[in-house]
Amino acid sequence: ISKTDSSGAAQSAKTLERGRKSIAGGDSSTMRVLPYHIPLVADRGEGARLWDVDGNEYIDLNMAYGPLLLGHRPKQVIEAVYRQISEHGSQLGFPTEVTIRVAEKLKQLFPCIELLRFANSGTEACASAIRLARTYTGRKKLIMFEGHYHGWSEAVFTKYHAPLEMLPECGYGPAIPGTTGMSDSLTDVIVCQWNDLDALQRCLEEHGDEAAAVIMEPISGNAGLLLPRDGYLQSVREMIHDRGGLLIFDEVITGMRVSAGGAQEHYMVSPDITVVSKAMGGGYPVGSFGASAEIMSCIANGPLFHGGVFSGNAVVMSAAEAVLDTVLGDKENIYAHLHAIADQLAGGIKEIYARLGIPAQVYHLGPLLAGLITKTEVEGLYNYRDVRRHCDFERYIKFQHHMQRAGVYFHPNEFEPMFLSTAHTSADIDEVLERWEDGARQCLVR
Ligand code: PMP
Repeated sequence: ISKTDSSGAAQSAKTLERGRKSIAGGDSSTMRVLPYHIPLVADRGEGARLWDVDGNEYIDLNMAYGPLLLGHRPKQVIEAVYRQISEHGSQLGFPTEVTIRVAEKLKQLFPCIELLRFANSGTEACASAIRLARTYTGRKKLIMFEGHYHGWSEAVFTKYHAPLEMLPECGYGPAIPGTTGMSDSLTDVIVCQWNDLDALQRCLEEHGDEAAAVIMEPISGNAGLLLPRDGYLQSVREMIHDRGGLLIFDEVITGMRVSAGGAQEHYMVSPDITVVSKAMGGGYPVGSFGASAEIMSCIANGPLFHGGVFSGNAVVMSAAEAVLDTVLGDKENIYAHLHAIADQLAGGIKEIYARLGIPAQVYHLGPLLAGLITKTEVEGLYNYRDVRRHCDFERYIKFQHHMQRAGVYFHPNEFEPMFLSTAHTSADIDEVLERWEDGARQCLVR
């Protein structure tokens, strides 16, 4: 974006420029420095608010892409981390009690997990979950879905936002590598259209007997936040089980967010292997994967290796324990609040779009939300192809730029959902909606 577009962000632009001289691209995740971002170098966060190095204040609807379920710098997390580092140590190199307590507490929220392992990120946890399914079943093939992201590992990093013309007409096909530099690691990965049982049926007819697992985000959170059709998750579970494969739910986004027990609790569908990450860490780098004792015996007693010097790091675990204690201690009120503010925001956005005649689809479940601007009125968006086909990405970016300048931050890519936290109040949402209306009038009305 040009210099004029960086007005009000001069210090951020300058800092990023300096960063580019020592960090490739200026930051360590490509997602954070996309060419169409208005430069934003963060200085500090507190509760639902974020400040950049120019001193601009934002109501944060990104929440660091999901981990900040309790907002920025929650007191109980800071205290737990401080206690850990001052009284015990940050990295001890042995099993610790805090790690075991976190596992016990996480199991209370996810009853289908009997045993689990911790990792350092969603990527690592997903890659290990896939190895686990392959080891347990003795099969190689993996079925995943268009628009779904399970991290950037060699195991599963496909071109998840592929152009429509690259997608097979029959609804499933071979995976396209998501980056240069990959080996042939995706030869056993098949990518299928999500929310489409017929496509999955055809896919399973061809590959089902060799499929170790179907892996999916139970809510499609990397394709603009799409919800599963009624009964879809249950049917997928039955279909892959009929073929002798496992179901993996990647609850990196949804776990402890749409409900304390994730999408599996909300939709009442138990996967065989669960991955939980972002929200459980309260802002610290954590991933976890778990399953029945029988499946996890591949690691506990068997041939499957899983390691990591920092896996189960004590600082991260102390933060996770503080989040888990908060959630376990006041589950009903916490999720009632998260759902209420999300209802308020989604309801307000819908009302503004309807009144101004802006074609859009607004989806939310709990504190996960997407206000998808479409090119024309559509009846609904059900999968990645629908979003790709109908959404107005350029207009959305223009609107996001306006909102960022107006002090409301969400990601400029329409595929990324918005995240709310326990720190957001109804008054924050009123403020957001006021600016939303103004932005919609200026950028979205045709
Ligand atoms: N799975 C899903 C559903 C995700 O959204 C992400 C990250 N956005 C990952 C896996 C990878 O997690 P991480 O970035 O922590 O490696």
